[in-house]
Amino acid sequence: MHKSLKLIYICFTLTPIILTYFLKRKKKENKRKNINEEKYYYRNLFMFNRKLCRDHVIKSNPCDINCPQRNLKILVDCIGSARRSISICVLTLQLLNIFQELLKAHERGVNVRIILDKEMIAENSPRLQKLKEKGIPVKTQVEKSCLHHKFCIVDEDDEVLAKMFFGSMNFTLQGLVRNYEHVTLTNNYEMIKRFLEEFNLLWNEFEFFY
Ligand SMILES: [Zn+2]
Repeated sequence: MHKSLKLIYICFTLTPIILTYFLKRKKKENKRKNINEEKYYYRNLFMFNRKLCRDHVIKSNPCDINCPQRNLKILVDCIGSARRSISICVLTLQLLNIFQELLKAHERGVNVRIILDKEMIAENSPRLQKLKEKGIPVKTQVEKSCLHHKFCIVDEDDEVLAKMFFGSMNFTLQGLVRNYEHVTLTNNYEMIKRFLEEFNLLWNEFEFFY
């Protein structure tokens, strides 16, 4: 066969193969992208100056999206869903429902780690005693700066189960019913990994409170 004819023949044969390969690869990439987009969710909660929700107290009716009880239940349920671990890093742990949910998690074998602000801890000493009795480790910062974080990671080692929430709200009644605050829940694993990295950094640097 003539040289140039040979070249044309090769081109004609190879071009569709190469094109098909790239098209298939692109399709695969898009599929993977869609799966990732589908499996990650986020949910935003907003708090503002709302006292107790009457619908909730009287009839357990569905109430509006800013109901403080509803918001609290979403956070408590998130902690309650933990199967393996909880790493929580907050200024203070005054909200009783959240505190109790952490104790329950520990009792069912979940590995609970707590980081709190050193200055705020003294106010909660009976709670701290309870954590000590149960053997739940609590760490605080060494220096005098404020531990102002508010985030909680659930089942950090399992990409499917992992979830977290974070936001402006301190875990206090004031934060829940008096202030203008926000909390975001998500299972975005890239974000969770970054928060976990920060948690572990603090955990390694900080000292045990008792
Ligand atoms: Zn309500």
